Amino acid sequence: MTGDVVQRLTSLRQHRGDGRRAPHKPLLVLLALGQLSATGSSSLPWTEVETRLGALLAEFGTPTSAGAPWAAYPFTRLRADGVWELSRDVANDTVGPLRAEPIEGHFPADIEATLVANPSAISAVARTLVESQFPSTLMTDVLLSVGLDPETVFGMPPASRLIPARKRDVAWRHAVLAAWDRSCAFCGFDGSVGGAPVGIEAAHVRWFTIGGPDELDNGVALCSLHHKLFDRGALGLDHEFSVVVSTNYAAVSDMGRTVYELHGRALRPRPGTKLPAAAHVQWHTREVFKGESLSA
Ligand SMILES: [Zn+2]
Repeated sequence: MTGDVVQRLTSLRQHRGDGRRAPHKPLLVLLALGQLSATGSSSLPWTEVETRLGALLAEFGTPTSAGAPWAAYPFTRLRADGVWELSRDVANDTVGPLRAEPIEGHFPADIEATLVANPSAISAVARTLVESQFPSTLMTDVLLSVGLDPETVFGMPPASRLIPARKRDVAWRHAVLAAWDRSCAFCGFDGSVGGAPVGIEAAHVRWFTIGGPDELDNGVALCSLHHKLFDRGALGLDHEFSVVVSTNYAAVSDMGRTVYELHGRALRPRPGTKLPAAAHVQWHTREVFKGESLSA
């Protein structure tokens, strides 16, 4: 019974052709799980979804998925997955009828009762959804934004028996770090503690969760900060493999403003290291990078 509910909430139909991200439905389910955890009911009025899901899509969605029209899509279409009900019937995708009169959405009674009786199922669903949609740099931020406790969620085993996860290649991480001399490809940071590199991570250009391969031409070594800004779409790469800083990024302090100085800086791999493949850079620009590029 519990497994059935977990399966239904994690097998959402998504338009993911051509490597496109489609985080709309998973983010609405996560928002409803957070609501259920906090209040004991998954019920969410449209007025709240419009604001909160709109903000989630702006922050964690694709470059084009901000705003109310995109929140209306999962709010209406999640019904077809059999895991969402609305308090009155409305057409799909249209904001007007949602704003005309009060309307709320919620999980069907059987799903809600199962989740209330088995809080661990809430964590299993949440973990499976964030792991299937987002890179590890963003998972905690997404969970906190919907009101779920990351330590509780990640304390649960994922429902991976239901949706077999692709296996991550540990050797790929080591190979990427070695190829970039264990230093950040953007800023050059190469700090170590006791001789071991610290805060240097292998970053996928095209996200692993969206089909990005564990290949050397899909990875760069980045410091923890620039990895996170890259995955959040505040940093990107242009077609000449120079760093692009988004106008969405803002800072006042000298330390914060050092990010601006990355704009236009060329990647300088050591001889023999592959630059990211153009197709992966284009994917990142289309699916992740947000806002406008700072003028050079
Ligand atoms: Zn860096």
